[in-house]
Amino acid sequence: MQAAEVVIIGGGIVGSSIAYHLTAAGCKDVLVIERETAQGKGSTGKSMGGVRAQFSTPVSIQMSLYSIPFYASFDERLGYPAGYRPQGYLFCATHEKHLAYLRANYEKQVAMGLKDVRLVAADEIRGMFPQLRSDDIVGGSFCSTDGFVDPYSAMVGFMSWATDHGARLWKNAQVSGIRRDGGGICGVETTRGGVSTRRVVNAAGPWAAEVAKLAGVDLPVQPLRRMLVPTEPFDQFPHTAPMIIDMSNGFHFRPESLGFLLAWNDPEETPGFKTDFEPAFIEKILTRAANRVPMFESLAVNPKRAWAGLYEMTPDHHPILGQAPTVPGFFLANGFSGHGVMHAPATGKILSDLILTGTCNLVDPGLLGLSRFAEGRLIEETAVL
Ligand SMILES: Cc1cc2nc3c(=O)[nH]c(=O)nc-3n(C[C@H](O)[C@H](O)[C@H](O)COP(=O)(O)OP(=O)(O)OC[C@H]3O[C@@H](n4cnc5c(N)ncnc54)[C@H](O)[C@@H]3O)c2cc1C
Repeated sequence: MQAAEVVIIGGGIVGSSIAYHLTAAGCKDVLVIERETAQGKGSTGKSMGGVRAQFSTPVSIQMSLYSIPFYASFDERLGYPAGYRPQGYLFCATHEKHLAYLRANYEKQVAMGLKDVRLVAADEIRGMFPQLRSDDIVGGSFCSTDGFVDPYSAMVGFMSWATDHGARLWKNAQVSGIRRDGGGICGVETTRGGVSTRRVVNAAGPWAAEVAKLAGVDLPVQPLRRMLVPTEPFDQFPHTAPMIIDMSNGFHFRPESLGFLLAWNDPEETPGFKTDFEPAFIEKILTRAANRVPMFESLAVNPKRAWAGLYEMTPDHHPILGQAPTVPGFFLANGFSGHGVMHAPATGKILSDLILTGTCNLVDPGLLGLSRFAEGRLIEETAVL
C-alpha cells in the first residue's frame, strides 16, 4: 500500500495548479493520479485559452485578479512558459441593455482594483476595427490585460514545477474507488493499487460528478459540449486583435496562429458526454462570423481541424471549491463552467490554503462551497461565453 499526504484525482490544468500550489507551500508528498497516458486529454487540451477579468460577480473578478498577474509572471516564477498574450477582450454591445450591463460590471471591476478595463464608445470600436459591421454597435468595454494563454503549456509548467520539487504524477492510472472510515477519507483505489491518504482532491473536470459519487457525494456538475472552429490562414484582419465578442448573439473570435479561432455557444446544445464535432456547426458559426465581420465571408475552414470538448457546468456558472460538507478530507475543485483555464491559478491557491490551513484569504470560501446549492445561496455569473 502506497501513501500520500494529498491525492489529486485528475492531471488537467486544475489538478496541476493545485499540485504546484501545494508543493510551493511546502507540502512534500502530493500524488496526482491521471487515468490517461498523457496529460491534457480532458477539457484542458480543448480550451480556447482565453483569460479575462471582465466578469459580473465579485468572486469571479477576484479569481481573475489573482490568476491573470500570475500568468503574466508564470515564466519568471516557474521557469516554464504559459504563453500569456495580453491582447485584451473587447465586448461589443448592440443594445442599450448590454451597455448598462457592461457599465455595471465595469464599476464592480474597477472598485475591486482592476486598472486596465475601460468603457469604449461605438466610434472608438469603429476606429479600432473598421472591418467590423458596426451599424448596430452602441459601445463596449475593453480590458488590455485580458488575453490568451496556452493551456497545455501552463498545465505542463505547473506539473513540471511540482514534480521537479517532489510531487508525483501517475499517468495511465484510474481512480476506481474512494475509501472512507469514521474520520472521513482514508484512501483511494486505483488500477495501480491502493493509496492511503487523509486528503483527496477531485479535479476530474467534466467527470467530476462520477468521481464525487465514489465518495458518496452528489455534485451538480454536468458536461456540455463546446465546439471551436479554426480558420485557414487569413491576413486581412489584424492578428494583434483581442478576443472580440459580439453581444448580439455571443459569437466571439480571436487570432490563432495565421488564422482565427471561432467560437459560439449553440443554445441548442444539450448536456452529455458528446465529444464528436458536428459538421453542421460550421455553417451556423460562419453565418454569425460573416454577419459581424463581412470580410469573413471569404474565410476558409477545414472541418477536419475543428474540434469539440466539454465545459463542466454548474447551475450558477461558478466553480465548486472546498471540502465536501459531509466527507471530511474530500476536497472539490470542479464545475468551472468555461473558466477553468483562466481561474486555475486562483483555484490552486484557494485549494492549497484550504487543505493546508483550513482557511483562505483570496475569496470567501463559504461562497463557493457545495452547500450553497442545498442552502439556496446561488451566485449567478452571467458573463459566460
Ligand atoms: C472548447 C472549449 C473552450 C474553452 N475555452 C476556455 C477559455 O477560453 N478559457 C478558460 O478559462 N476555459 C476554457 N474552457 C474550459 C476549460 O478548458 C476547463 O474549465 C478546464 O480545462 C478544466 O480543467 P480541469 O483540469 O478541471 O479538467 P480536465 O482538463 O478535463 O482534466 C481532468 C482530468 O481528470 C482525469 N480523470 C477523470 N476521471 C478520472 C479518474 N477516475 N481517475 C484518474 N483521472 C481521471 C481526466 O482524464 C482529465 O485529464 C474551454 C473548454 C472547452 C471544451
